[in-house]
Amino acid sequence: MSQAGVSRIVIDTPMQLSGNSRVDRDLRLALERNRERVILSRPIRDDIDENRLIEDGSEFFERGMRIAASDIQPDFLGFVWGIESEYSDGRSAYPAVWNVIAHGGATTEAIFPDYSVDTSQVPQIDLSELARGNGLALNAVQDKTVVIWGSGRDRRAIKAPDANYGDVSAGLIQIVAAETALRNSGQFVGSSITIAAFGLLLLLGLGIVRGRRNRMLVYGLWVAALVTFFVLSAYLGLRVMLSEALFLGTFYATLRAIYNYRRRHIFIDPRSKLPNFAALRRDLECQEDVAAFAIVVAKVARLDAVLATLSQSEQRQYMRQVATRLNLGDTQHTVYHDGGKYFGFLVRAQDYPDLKSHLEGLRAVASQAVSVSKRTLDLSMTIGVDHSKNKSPSSRISSAIAAADQAREAYRPVFIITNFEADSETWDYSLQARLEQALTENRISIKLQPQIELQSGRIIGAEALARWVDEERGEISPARFILQCERVGRLDELTKRLLGLSFAASRSLREKGLPARVSANVSAIQFVDHRIADMIETALAESGADPADIIIEVTESARIEDFAVARDIMERLGNSGIRFSIDDFGISSANLDALYRLPFFELKIDRMFVSALTNDRSARTIVENMLSLSSGLGLVSVAEGIEDLATLEILRNMGGDLGQGYCIARPQTLPLLQETMRLQRDNGLQRSG
Ligand code: C2E
Ligand code: MG
Ligand code: MG
Repeated sequence: MSQAGVSRIVIDTPMQLSGNSRVDRDLRLALERNRERVILSRPIRDDIDENRLIEDGSEFFERGMRIAASDIQPDFLGFVWGIESEYSDGRSAYPAVWNVIAHGGATTEAIFPDYSVDTSQVPQIDLSELARGNGLALNAVQDKTVVIWGSGRDRRAIKAPDANYGDVSAGLIQIVAAETALRNSGQFVGSSITIAAFGLLLLLGLGIVRGRRNRMLVYGLWVAALVTFFVLSAYLGLRVMLSEALFLGTFYATLRAIYNYRRRHIFIDPRSKLPNFAALRRDLECQEDVAAFAIVVAKVARLDAVLATLSQSEQRQYMRQVATRLNLGDTQHTVYHDGGKYFGFLVRAQDYPDLKSHLEGLRAVASQAVSVSKRTLDLSMTIGVDHSKNKSPSSRISSAIAAADQAREAYRPVFIITNFEADSETWDYSLQARLEQALTENRISIKLQPQIELQSGRIIGAEALARWVDEERGEISPARFILQCERVGRLDELTKRLLGLSFAASRSLREKGLPARVSANVSAIQFVDHRIADMIETALAESGADPADIIIEVTESARIEDFAVARDIMERLGNSGIRFSIDDFGISSANLDALYRLPFFELKIDRMFVSALTNDRSARTIVENMLSLSSGLGLVSVAEGIEDLATLEILRNMGGDLGQGYCIARPQTLPLLQETMRLQRDNGLQRSG
């Protein structure tokens, strides 16, 4: 080969004795002759502790020769990324093969092979061609550095990260590395730079955009930038550490996925699978014009009792139906569920000039019985609204819940708080003070509204209605002050007073030989224990009225929590002759559930249906059905709120039993009622037609 004019020969394969001493000696002599031009190499290997060790070479061949270290340090996939410039075994240092080729072993910098080096430019010649003296082959090696590596079993193959390379011999990688060193390419872009650059890019992108879709776009662009940079750096012959940046991306994606997962679960109620009130608050906070929204909270009465009878999937069905009902007004609404008995949604107040009546309508429709797994279940609700300004979203949600609590089925099913401070609190505090005074001074009285037999027109008795005339505010509706008494825990005291007055009126009527049947109203929430029974019995005893004259109208029967207790109380009182009426039947405050479970004697059809009789066919159908339901169950029917003669006539034709209303007589004081009754007794039936 020396004759071929080769400038240097690097033997990148270990030299071993062949066993044929003549051949070995010839080879040794040839090496000695070309000592200046030939460089032998020793492979580097890892020991058990992954220390890089220089393997021993053949003393016979190596003596007096220059020796390089042949290392290709592939990663776990078989790729070579970087090669040291020098190896030392503690005694002497061995320059790397590439270092010898490029710098004669002079440099100390490690190299990162630039795989953009075109290896097709490196002639590869079979050694036997040279040995045979092939002219072309000899020409090719003239004045060149020749690297000799093993073939067949001796070939050390590695992978190069370029499609053109594929599996290549280790020697070729040394040439690429040397070429890289000569071109001064293969610069190293460290991981700190790529992490900083790509981290910043990600931060910047996410800082600028809003919304999920745009975020996805940023992620896509980020990955595209990474790939582009990778390809570009390969062309530029840069050696970049992208794995850390990629790791950063993966790490971020994982964190984000965990965050999204938790977020989804934090904002969803596990039972109903509806978004919860934390989601309601979040969504409210997201609105630009928070003040324009009213928070509506619907409280479903006795939800727990209903759910207790259902399987898990039926529970979900039931709650989903509640949500669908509340959606009726506008399918755009998201309905939120707090996990308990409250459901909420947002409405843009300006869309509803009369929000209250809109919600009353919604509530009426939403409160129809629900059917789950072929079972019909009652649904009754009250609605609270917060439409106040200058309050935080969470305190607004709380006040909407409070409003739903304060709303009452019969009295005020939809309760709107616009300015909590001024509207409800202050008013109620001053009302409260005066109510206390009225109770102490005994200034709460009753009025009696006559009830007639529809067919004959004969007055058969009266309903006692609570009245409070406040000096400042005039007559205050029982709806308001009974609610107030309940809230401050003085309902018993008020009831005691009103029962006393009602029973005394009955006794007075009986004494005068007039119809003494008197109906007194008692809220269903008082049927939780026997105190109400004691109270009624005491009032009866004190007044001396005949229990057979007394009807107790149970208002708000939907609020009965425990039917067994209520039934006990009613049976105990029933034994003494008192009878019970279910008030406001047909609206959600009183429904079939209570009628079915409790021993009622009378059914009062709510005035909502009665007042619509003359102009609404469905009201007529409903009343007809209620009347047949009532007679089918052997109950006495009472139609309340008869305001005109046409209605009276219709009811009479339908076969109703009793009736009351402004058209017959307004609620009046006892002396006036007595006068009316006396007149009727003496002059016959006046309003019989
Ligand atoms: P309610 O028991 O359904 O009483 C009937 C209500 O309808 C009374 O209102 C009565 O004045 C009114 N009314 C009677 N005829 C007509 C009519 O033709 N048209 C119209 N639009 N209304 C008519 P009031 O007195 O304001 O009582 C409201 C509610 O307050 C009562 O409804 C009842 O639930 C409750 N309440 C009244 N007194 C008592 C009481 O002593 N104790 C309890 N717990 N609740 C009472
Ligand atoms: Mg009543
Ligand atoms: Mg009523």
